[in-house]
Amino acid sequence: MKKKYSFITTLLLSATLSQAQTADSVVVKKLYDATLSHGQSYEWLRQLTTQIGGRLAGSANAAKAVQWGKNVLEQAGADRVFLQDVMVPHWERGAKEEAYIVVGKQKITVPLLALGGSIATPKKGIQAEVIEVQNFQELRALGKEKCEGKIIFFNRPMDPTKINTFEAYGGAGDQRRSGANEASKVGAIGVIIRSLSNTLNDYPHTGSMQYATGVPLIPAGAISTNAAELLSKTLKENPKTQFFFKQNCETLDDAPSHNVVAEIKGSEKPDEYIVVGGHLDSWDVAQGAHDDGTGIAQSMEVLRLFKELGIRPKRTIRIVLFMNEENGNRGGIKYAELAKQNNEKHIFALESDSGGFTPKGFGIQGAAASVFEKIQGYKSLFAPYGLHEIERGGGGVDIGPLGPQGTVLIGFKPDSQRYFEYHHASNDKFDTVNQRELELGAASMASLVYLLDKYGL
Ligand SMILES: [Zn+2]
Repeated sequence: MKKKYSFITTLLLSATLSQAQTADSVVVKKLYDATLSHGQSYEWLRQLTTQIGGRLAGSANAAKAVQWGKNVLEQAGADRVFLQDVMVPHWERGAKEEAYIVVGKQKITVPLLALGGSIATPKKGIQAEVIEVQNFQELRALGKEKCEGKIIFFNRPMDPTKINTFEAYGGAGDQRRSGANEASKVGAIGVIIRSLSNTLNDYPHTGSMQYATGVPLIPAGAISTNAAELLSKTLKENPKTQFFFKQNCETLDDAPSHNVVAEIKGSEKPDEYIVVGGHLDSWDVAQGAHDDGTGIAQSMEVLRLFKELGIRPKRTIRIVLFMNEENGNRGGIKYAELAKQNNEKHIFALESDSGGFTPKGFGIQGAAASVFEKIQGYKSLFAPYGLHEIERGGGGVDIGPLGPQGTVLIGFKPDSQRYFEYHHASNDKFDTVNQRELELGAASMASLVYLLDKYGL
């Protein structure tokens, strides 16, 4: 009798489970259908990238983007939209940079962008012999004797054998972030780096750098990968080759700015929060399409989809358009600070900041084994949409500061092969984003949020 009872219970239970799975797969399909047939993310991306354009924190365009984001989220039907005040660094590029390779009397002009946060060169520019190195170790070994008064050229490429290009980016990033400090320690007067890109082309890629305290500040810029190849070749033929560059950038006083936050109020646990977001700022030279207009448009679409399909979440969902990811992360830090101050329990945060390419899955950080397994349990629901990588790791810069509060951090993971063709360069434009890929990402994010809210973590 007992055995029979448990058999029936098991049958009932599995019937209920599969019914739930069927019901969930219906909702997931509705989310994909709605965004692929009449989604708004592509139009919103067009507005942000082509009508506003580059929007570095502290700039007039960043302020325009804040107003735009607020208006769009209000129109999309958010229960409430508000701004969070945040002071951000304010760095300006100034007039266009100039750079050339000097071989004897010959000057070969090359494309260069000042790194974000760098100082300007003296008004007439700087010119010196060039020392090419692959890494800091090699630089230290050369020491002051070889490097004093020279321009250091960091030329270590992103490792082409890494399948996940973010790993290759991580492996080369120290040259950009702290190359100027290391070069300064050995008496160099300037730094140029090979752009962090795995494509050979003529676009220099900017990005942030920080000065360390206690070392003289020297200017730092990035040259295109083609220019880096040319300079390296020229140096091999003529070690006395010189390099000239002129940068006109400056750091102004911190400026007031905002995160934009939109809410759908939770029906059962309104005091528990789910964050979905990306960063609203971008580098000045780009339209900021893949970085990170796509993440912004997708996050806003998650809200619109919930509203359109009448999905009432149990917990409060917050769409957050973070400010200043690129050169300070002040928006992300401020958001987490306020969450803590207001005693807001954040269950999980999902960020899209890896480009608007074909979705592959999610990277999960800070989840207990049982939570991780639970999320992996949704794989069969995602499989029809090509989402198969649900792995450890991921997260995002903007949501990172929520980690210490016990929030599970999830990074949306699209295909990474083309991202570093555009990242932080002037070719990061609207027309490089494929509408369907962008929309599939929005639906993927909405589906994950729907499931994690419904079943909890
Ligand atoms: Zn980004």
